[in-house]
Amino acid sequence: MISPRRRLVAASVLLVLEAVVFALFVTESVVGAIAAVGVTCLSLWVHVVLHECGHLVVAKLLRLPVVAVRVAPFTGWRSEVWVRPAPPATALPLRMVLFYLGGPTVNLCTAAVLAAVAASTGTASTRVALFGAALVGALLAVVNLVPGTSPRSDGRNLLRWLLAPTATRAALRAGYYQEEVRRTLRAISRGEVGDDRLADPVRDADDPRLALAAFQRRWSTGHAQSAADFIADAERLAALARADGTDPLAAAAIGEALTVQFGLWYLYAAVVNGSPVERREVVELAELAQLAFQAQPHLLSARVAMGLAHLLDQRPEHARSLLLDIRPGVDPPDLCGVAFLLRAAAECHLGNHADADTLVRAAGGDHQQLAQVVAAIRAADPVPPLFAPAPMADA
Ligand SMILES: [Zn+2]
Repeated sequence: MISPRRRLVAASVLLVLEAVVFALFVTESVVGAIAAVGVTCLSLWVHVVLHECGHLVVAKLLRLPVVAVRVAPFTGWRSEVWVRPAPPATALPLRMVLFYLGGPTVNLCTAAVLAAVAASTGTASTRVALFGAALVGALLAVVNLVPGTSPRSDGRNLLRWLLAPTATRAALRAGYYQEEVRRTLRAISRGEVGDDRLADPVRDADDPRLALAAFQRRWSTGHAQSAADFIADAERLAALARADGTDPLAAAAIGEALTVQFGLWYLYAAVVNGSPVERREVVELAELAQLAFQAQPHLLSARVAMGLAHLLDQRPEHARSLLLDIRPGVDPPDLCGVAFLLRAAAECHLGNHADADTLVRAAGGDHQQLAQVVAAIRAADPVPPLFAPAPMADA
């Protein structure tokens, strides 16, 4: 099989040869033809730079926080300007649409200017070179604006913000939240398993520690597979943790990771989306948290897991007592931040709003999404239910 990259190289070579033949036909000079085609090819680099500059200038003008810029034509990497807007920002859909239009617009304007200059120039070689460069610029704009070319193309992103602004804003917020969840998971994983040991999926499935590390690596990028696959994968892991022969510390590690991953999302679903999880999910989560807590009750990670389970089970006083002792500087900062915020949520349930405010301040600004979940709990009256009561027919 021919790799896509090789196919791309072959197509490019063919295209350049065709262009040289065409340029030769117009300019009637070999040197002129090669120079004209060379200039056209090089113009791609300039167009890519201008494209990203277009995005960058719009981002700066519209005060969208820019977190990274990468210009890397011919390397196989995407050239990109990354922005990280706050989900509740004013007029965000319009600003994002303009941001995504910025790059292609600059390419189209440049192409128009080049074509106009080419039309008024004298020599055949210059004309071919300029028209070629204009064509490259216009093509770059069009390719980026076609929604289907890549899931991250300007056109695709632009359409999402244009057609489904509310859902896109919610997805942005959820994406930031998952980043916070992932950071918390990293803080509790203590780097037990190196990547080099994660080679064989069959062996990974039997060793609980390897299975956990493989699970986390499989899902660390987030969007690759379906939610159903993720849940099935997590259930296999939970069964492994509950199995009789499993080493208690390995079971504890799995219990902690699953409780934090799912528990934080249950909290989010109940408070932000107004859809509390079913009671049996909370019970299952509490059993997993218990595996961690009974193995190492002194560890903050185990107390965070157990506290989260209590909180979801609407037992805020239990959650609070587990999270009284948080030691920033001793425990990992990401874990301390989450612990402070979970205790703040418990205090909100108990009506201690002043204590909750102090704890949110102590958590710092590294968990903005979780802090907003806590703020929503604090603002609600009564506190939103965190799990849905079982239907009566089931009783
Ligand atoms: Zn772009």
